[in-house]
Amino acid sequence: MNNDSLEELNQNQESESAQEQTKDESEWRKELNPEQYHVLREKGTERAFTGRYWDLKDAGTYRCAACGEPLFTSETKYDSGSGWPSFYQPADASSVKELADHSHGMIRTEVTCAKCDSHLGHVFPDGPPETGLRYCVNSASLDFEKQEEGDAE
Ligand SMILES: [Zn+2]
Repeated sequence: MNNDSLEELNQNQESESAQEQTKDESEWRKELNPEQYHVLREKGTERAFTGRYWDLKDAGTYRCAACGEPLFTSETKYDSGSGWPSFYQPADASSVKELADHSHGMIRTEVTCAKCDSHLGHVFPDGPPETGLRYCVNSASLDFEKQEEGDAE
């Protein structure tokens, strides 16, 4: 038949894909699954003992589920009995941000990813002796990367 309609189709596709900007909420919504979006971008909290990582003891790195930044390592993870992954310190002090949170009638300290501002969880002053802190983080905010065999120090 004729090629005109095909050409028109190609042109339309190109004009749509030319925009690349910093992520807005609709892009986060596309990239994250509904639970991750709710926790990371709407500051939700998964139910205790339901997440992927609260009971995980493998060696490795926990990255931000939104941007991939390394946030915590298995070396500082401990069993707090809370039902959420708990760490006594972040992988690097600069990898997380701590903000006052007065929601739900409580005074708490919110923890977010320093790179993309996504919500991770809260930090409480009832942690183990190493630091006295408990970083209580949602599994949905994390992406676990297992340490390769023979990669131990
Ligand atoms: Zn992030």
